[in-house]
Amino acid sequence: MKRQIKIHCREIHPHIHRIILPLPGRQPGPVNAYLFSGKQTTLLDCGTNRTARHLEESLKQIGIGFSDIDRIILTHGHIDHYGAAQHIVRRSSGRIAVAAHPEDTPVVETGMEVSDRQFSKFYRLMGVPLVFELLFYGMGLFFSSLAENCRVDLHLSDGEKIQVGDYEATVVSTPGHTRGSICLYLEKEDILFSGDHIIGHITPNAFVMLESDFDIPWRMSQVEFYDSLRKIESLAPQIVYPAHGKPINDLPKTAAMYREQFLRRQEKILAILKKGEFTVYRIARSLFPEISGKRLPLEIFLSVSEVFTHLQVLEKDGMVASHVKRRKQYYSLK
Ligand SMILES: [Zn+2]
Repeated sequence: MKRQIKIHCREIHPHIHRIILPLPGRQPGPVNAYLFSGKQTTLLDCGTNRTARHLEESLKQIGIGFSDIDRIILTHGHIDHYGAAQHIVRRSSGRIAVAAHPEDTPVVETGMEVSDRQFSKFYRLMGVPLVFELLFYGMGLFFSSLAENCRVDLHLSDGEKIQVGDYEATVVSTPGHTRGSICLYLEKEDILFSGDHIIGHITPNAFVMLESDFDIPWRMSQVEFYDSLRKIESLAPQIVYPAHGKPINDLPKTAAMYREQFLRRQEKILAILKKGEFTVYRIARSLFPEISGKRLPLEIFLSVSEVFTHLQVLEKDGMVASHVKRRKQYYSLK
């Protein structure tokens, strides 16, 4: 017997529907996909492959089938946003074009940002114990089961105008959460679809941007995230529709919350470093002593990424220094 599907599909603007799709875990919560129907029927993000039927049922409610979709736009290359894309394309006999920013295309097409080897190198350098490598591997297998790799047919670049349904949208490149994150801005309507760059109920992660050629990532995700945030603030959209959670009517308040959180984290890291020199892993465990249980590998993965990206900024600002000792990177106050 098929499981009963609870459908959340609501018209938020004429011919624009928000469809809420479930996602395992507490945060960031269910995914919002947006359907723009009309001249160029466009789906913005599509959830994981596990919720493809849920999406299909939701679309059915507004009289749309997968084969009516002309284009899928991906806000970025995370599985909860692109996971179902390949399934939908297959169901439409391949007539749907998938669009994304070129910098997130490799991850959508291959499911990987860098090789497993490069990934382990970085986490070992950060002092993460070997046992987590196995746990990360298991976590990776689970996540990849939520998405199918998908070919990207169309590359979107900053400032480009694109037809979505009956509307014209401007692509705004907002690196930070990932390299190739984008937002869509409907200028005439003054509304922004923000992907994971702006979320109302949590501060989005500025994930470490691992490199194939360098053991220590050189791009500063936090700096790029706040540069992108300023770019969005200058547009001053009246309403922001995020990829998780409710619409945001007060962008300045949300942006202020992010900045406050950012400063508080940095202060806490500096306070830990007052006690001596530590690896990123050690700092992360002191900063988040509460993490444990089933979610431990994921929380370690996220917190190491977060602490590292903060330390990049503190090092750039001359407050922290780092050196490699016994194949681990240590940080201390300057
Ligand atoms: Zn994401």
